[in-house]
Amino acid sequence: MCLLCASCGEEQVYESQSSGEVAAGLKETRSSSNEGGVAITFDDASIDEWCSILDLLDKYDAKVTFFVTNWDKLDSEQIKKLKVLQNAGHEIGCHGLTHKSINDYASSADGMRTYIKEEVVPAIKIMGGYGFPPLSFAYPKGNRGENPIMADQFLLIYFHYLRSTHGLAASKIPYEDLLYRKCGDNRRVLSSLKIDGHSLEGLEGIQASLQRAAEQNEIVVFYAHRPSNEPGRNNISIARLEAILKASSKLGLNFYRVRDLLNCCTN
Ligand SMILES: [Zn+2]
Repeated sequence: MCLLCASCGEEQVYESQSSGEVAAGLKETRSSSNEGGVAITFDDASIDEWCSILDLLDKYDAKVTFFVTNWDKLDSEQIKKLKVLQNAGHEIGCHGLTHKSINDYASSADGMRTYIKEEVVPAIKIMGGYGFPPLSFAYPKGNRGENPIMADQFLLIYFHYLRSTHGLAASKIPYEDLLYRKCGDNRRVLSSLKIDGHSLEGLEGIQASLQRAAEQNEIVVFYAHRPSNEPGRNNISIARLEAILKASSKLGLNFYRVRDLLNCCTN
């Protein structure tokens, strides 16, 4: 239990019969080498809500990555709560100083230099000062600019992993190789699937991606924002999050932080 977050105010209901039904619908598959897994990530700065799911994450022994932004505005209480998340074994990644998109900058080397100077270096400095030196970065708004390869090259000087986003129809998710990392994969730009949503509807694509990860011993990366039962485009309901955790667990998938991908596949 996160004592610092006792004032979060939201009562989270972790047990959900519906989520059990979702998990029950999955074929149980476990690979022999068992490195298949899922890296669940959360973006922005919903720090109270993130603290409120610590018990739920613990229930499934799931370690996740929180990509934090607005470093110039976080107060000391919020920093303490981020420490609680980090001390619980979760990763604190960088999501820019103020959440400005690369698309707001010129699509040139000079534009990237300005972006790095304004949004990346100051964020890294602040994070390092608080004890969160980042290894991973998530592109704000999922934007990689008009020249994504160039953006990646600039940012990979500062980070080991970059997390981007990928929009795809549910039926195509199991067949998009870009979403899956195989053992020994040295790609440092990770595509990810959005898992935000209020209900258990529309989980078919997510379930299919977990199934593929289990069957082919691969790793799939998900992203979400604010765990909350309130409606909101960037909210993920607690029942939905638990359904995904439960389904992953039932399939025997490992839960990875983004930084764990450095060492999880050694052959
Ligand atoms: Zn964001």
